Amino acid sequence: MKPADPTVTCRAVRLSAPGRPLVDETLEAAQPGPGEILVRVKAAGICHSDAHYRAGIGSTRHPLTLGHEIAGVVAATGARVASPRVGERVCLHYLVTCGQCRDCRAGREQFCATGEMIGKDRDGGFAEFVRVPARNAHVLPAGIPFEQGAILMCSSATALHALRKARVAKGETVAVFGVGGLGVSAVQLARALGAARVFAVDVNPAKLALAAGLGAEPVDAMAGDPVAAIREATAGRGVDAALELVGFARTMEQAVEVLAPRGRAALAGLTRERISLAPYRDILNREAEVIGVSDHLASEIPELIAFVERGALDLSGAVTRVVPLAALAINGVLDDLEAFRDDVRTVVQP
Ligand SMILES: [Zn+2]
Ligand SMILES: [Zn+2]
Repeated sequence: MKPADPTVTCRAVRLSAPGRPLVDETLEAAQPGPGEILVRVKAAGICHSDAHYRAGIGSTRHPLTLGHEIAGVVAATGARVASPRVGERVCLHYLVTCGQCRDCRAGREQFCATGEMIGKDRDGGFAEFVRVPARNAHVLPAGIPFEQGAILMCSSATALHALRKARVAKGETVAVFGVGGLGVSAVQLARALGAARVFAVDVNPAKLALAAGLGAEPVDAMAGDPVAAIREATAGRGVDAALELVGFARTMEQAVEVLAPRGRAALAGLTRERISLAPYRDILNREAEVIGVSDHLASEIPELIAFVERGALDLSGAVTRVVPLAALAINGVLDDLEAFRDDVRTVVQP
């Protein structure tokens, strides 16, 4: 145990009130309590969810330091922390849960009734330091850069969880709607799980090219109906699994419409729109399944790190922009995300 210096201050970029731009603040660095660690943030991903939280959708506490995709170095540990140790490189699972309730014990910790999300319900990583339970930390191998460790914690983890929920098996065909932060990982992980063909649907030529470079068959949704294009490419059959990672009603409908018999559509994009399906044609007749995807599991994180280590998941092209820990820069990125002028992923480096 090595207590943090209580005089250390912590610069943070915070949401003071919903619907307001984030602001720069200097706080006292939090002290790790029993079972907790203090992490010096080396990289924090900026996620589309952060734009929602800034707008007042979802975030529950104010003022609040946003940032839920975090990698860094352990700066101090509280009592009763055997691992990780001070100086170790770590990435942080963003759900802080009780660990004892029925859902936690069953490994479904995203349904823990007292669970909190780092950067949404408690202070997150747009800061020099973040305090978290030690069990949220996963050791980040030396070969994985901090910025990749950070984005692994949300977009890649949710992509893997979506593929697991869709039960993608060897030899199957998969359609990925949206080649953003999640899609870049989903395309590669689908292949790593043995998918025979992966279609990547987007409207952005650069993203389609990126997906093609990762082994996917690009489908330009601007050039025509992507469902028709995928049906044509599969001799009319459609795909065994479709992932919706955009958050539009229309792409959710397409993810269901494109399914083959016994196909599964996993929906992970966020929207308040309602969707419209033809029950017989789209679901009953095909025994199709429409599956919700919420967050991911702590148990999936070591698996993800292993995929990166053995080269099955290459995130070297996924982080396209780095910004400093400054409200002006982060607000600008959130404005871009809101307007869908997004880079694949931007990371804050304090
Ligand atoms: Zn995120
Ligand atoms: Zn629980």
